[in-house]
Amino acid sequence: LPYDRSYNFSAGPATLPTEVLEQARDEMMNFQKSGQSVMEMSHRSKVYVDIFTRAQNSLRQLLSIPDNYDILFLQGGATMMFAGVPLNLLKTGKEGKPTVDYIITGDWSKKAADEAKMYSDYCNVNIVVDSKQGADYKTIPDQSTWKLTPGAAYIHYATNETIRGVCFNTLPTFPEDAVVVCDMSSDFLSRPIDVSKFGVIYAGAQKNAGPAGATIVIIRKDLLGRQLQICPSALNFKKQADKASMLNTPSTYPVYICGLYFDWILKHGGLPWIYQQDQEKAKLLYQTIADSKGYYELFVTDPKVQSMMNVPLRVFAGGEQNKENMTPHELKFVAEAAKLGLVNLKGYRDLGGIRVSMYNALTLDGIKMLCEFMKQFQAQNPP
Ligand code: PLP
Repeated sequence: LPYDRSYNFSAGPATLPTEVLEQARDEMMNFQKSGQSVMEMSHRSKVYVDIFTRAQNSLRQLLSIPDNYDILFLQGGATMMFAGVPLNLLKTGKEGKPTVDYIITGDWSKKAADEAKMYSDYCNVNIVVDSKQGADYKTIPDQSTWKLTPGAAYIHYATNETIRGVCFNTLPTFPEDAVVVCDMSSDFLSRPIDVSKFGVIYAGAQKNAGPAGATIVIIRKDLLGRQLQICPSALNFKKQADKASMLNTPSTYPVYICGLYFDWILKHGGLPWIYQQDQEKAKLLYQTIADSKGYYELFVTDPKVQSMMNVPLRVFAGGEQNKENMTPHELKFVAEAAKLGLVNLKGYRDLGGIRVSMYNALTLDGIKMLCEFMKQFQAQNPP
């Protein structure tokens, strides 16, 4: 790769497009003759406000975000929004304690539900479905079995579960008037979506949209103002929207890089282009795994919910596992891949094995090289 860079399969923070990094490098010392680096600019200066607004506009264009939605660039990551969601949506104007519905399909949506439970003085948390039970988060139970609460303050789910690689390839449908809240951290901008079906979409930028430090919240404007009294100001979506996400100092440099990332996608053809690329990469990897005839074992075998973004797998799982649930074959796989510049393939600690994350900025060439390596490794390291 140019600059002797590696192909980075990390689950996040993840690889960024080379063109984005090159532009950032070129603009690093003196952004467009402003005499300053973007990192040094006052967030109140015209030059920076223009950068910020441009990032918002590019994102609006990319996702065709309707005018009745605000785009906020906040901080604290998706984890902060696990708290931000209940804190901002529980004042319903109705009598009694509201109920909120959580759909749990993996580790992250479970964490989101657990965070909401910390506000049990203000809401009842109903677990609509928890696919740990009976399915070990390997699949998503049919929607007809879910127990939604009529009149819930909101319904929360995560489109893609990063750790176990379970994804809603077909988005669930909900009653027209439901306030649907979605954690899209790990498949944000990977395919076109209909934003109007959601009340709130949030995502940490560091996988598919930029560096760590910017947290994106897209919220339907009529939902602003439903915050609890105890909601911290910096996390108050209404206050932030009123101040154009500048109630306090925003993460200025990460938002600038996000803007470059959005423009990079737009320049190449927008979300239809990314989607086609991401599908092609995933197809190649899943085909290589299928062709291995069991040498590589998928964690998620149901194609309906297999993720395009994160693919946990075992490399011939036989042999003693170490403390991190890695077999000798897997340790060798990770080490040999790294020597070729294929890095960050080690699986999530609890799950062990390998995890291939292939976000938007990972090129098809990277996946091709990985698949070639997988074939060679299998040939040279029989069970
Ligand atoms: N939600 C999902 C789906 C994630 O993958 C992650 C991080 O990996 C998070 C939430 C937490 O994100 P953050 O680290 O930005 O708080």
